[in-house]
Amino acid sequence: MGGAKAAWMEAQERGWDAPEKHVCPDCVSDPYLKALIEGGVTSRTCDYCGEQADTEIAAPVEEIMPAVMGALTHYFAEPGGAGVPYESAEGGYLVEPTDTADALMSLPLECNDELFDDIVSAIAHFNDGWVEAGQGHWASEQKNQELIGGWNRFSNHVKHRQRYFFTATERDFGQDIEPSRLMPELASVVSELELIEGMDADTPLFRVRARSPSNTWSMDAENLGAPPSRRAAAGRMNPPGISYLYLALEPATAAAEIVRGPPCSLALAHFRTTRPLRLLNLIDLPAIPSIFDYERLREREFLVFLAEFVQAISRPVEKDGAEHIEYVPSQIVCEYFASVFQPDSPLDGLLYPSAVSKGGRNLVLFPRFDEGDNQFPQVLFQDSWTAVAEDWTALSKLIGSSRGVP
Ligand SMILES: [Zn+2]
Repeated sequence: MGGAKAAWMEAQERGWDAPEKHVCPDCVSDPYLKALIEGGVTSRTCDYCGEQADTEIAAPVEEIMPAVMGALTHYFAEPGGAGVPYESAEGGYLVEPTDTADALMSLPLECNDELFDDIVSAIAHFNDGWVEAGQGHWASEQKNQELIGGWNRFSNHVKHRQRYFFTATERDFGQDIEPSRLMPELASVVSELELIEGMDADTPLFRVRARSPSNTWSMDAENLGAPPSRRAAAGRMNPPGISYLYLALEPATAAAEIVRGPPCSLALAHFRTTRPLRLLNLIDLPAIPSIFDYERLREREFLVFLAEFVQAISRPVEKDGAEHIEYVPSQIVCEYFASVFQPDSPLDGLLYPSAVSKGGRNLVLFPRFDEGDNQFPQVLFQDSWTAVAEDWTALSKLIGSSRGVP
């Protein structure tokens, strides 16, 4: 076999045949593609923007082709190979294929226009019809869509259809993850992304309660800690009658979570952890990898889902009575992580971002029923102080300041 023929067959096999040109990192916008180019520079001139230098600044276009092709074939497939039925009567596929340019644009591949055209021809030469496909099949969804769809169905199901025996229902969910499978799916996402983290003993934590200057209740652990179960109202994470302890890592976050506007008068309590804690950390999620980093696309899809999920459970809820319904899905998730997930070494709680204080970090502690009367032995009350804000300036100072431990 001649060299040219062998090269052609190889190109056909991989599905692209790159132009013999060089590209510099400035001609692509994705950081992962930029890094690939920086790692493969062999030319002092970029054939696209014309940039020239005394050192090598541009890499052969073929350096980025496997990454572009990896992303394209992860989200799209050639219709025949993806199992799209062919309707001979209509003379076409059941799903209208999109061309390579539109498919690349939807990723999106953002780069120099001439480079974009070159990449399109490099691929369209071999195949120019694509259908969206999850795991290579036209009728399957991507993992993140499957999880997001599953979560939406789950939320709706437990809010409005069936709450206490949702694990019994396995019908009518089509492609979506049925409610009973959503929790184990979420657990595997959490484990795979290693989101369980430790918190050191002696870490300061804060809690705030409204307290008008005329109030006389004593500012102690009993009044500033978690309410007793019989008086526990429904919260974002806990159902009524089961008390969870809501804390924040910053006093300002704790204050921002409860004040609605001036004038306000608050009691702030300072707690410290009594031992190292094990927490599900939904705050410091890993950065979402590039769509072109095709070895990490599964991780990318989990993280796209988690970002939506965290937003859904930390979103401000209007306190108009309907919050009792809105809180149900996150209450179920919390109960799962509190008692079903890793039952041999149960989690102490969950860290989640504040929806009202940018950068603020909240912690909800799950109750312990196996350590005597105290349901929250993970923390100990230290001291408390009061704060009053008469107007917005004073209030923004109070909730915007990063006042440390008194
Ligand atoms: Zn360039």
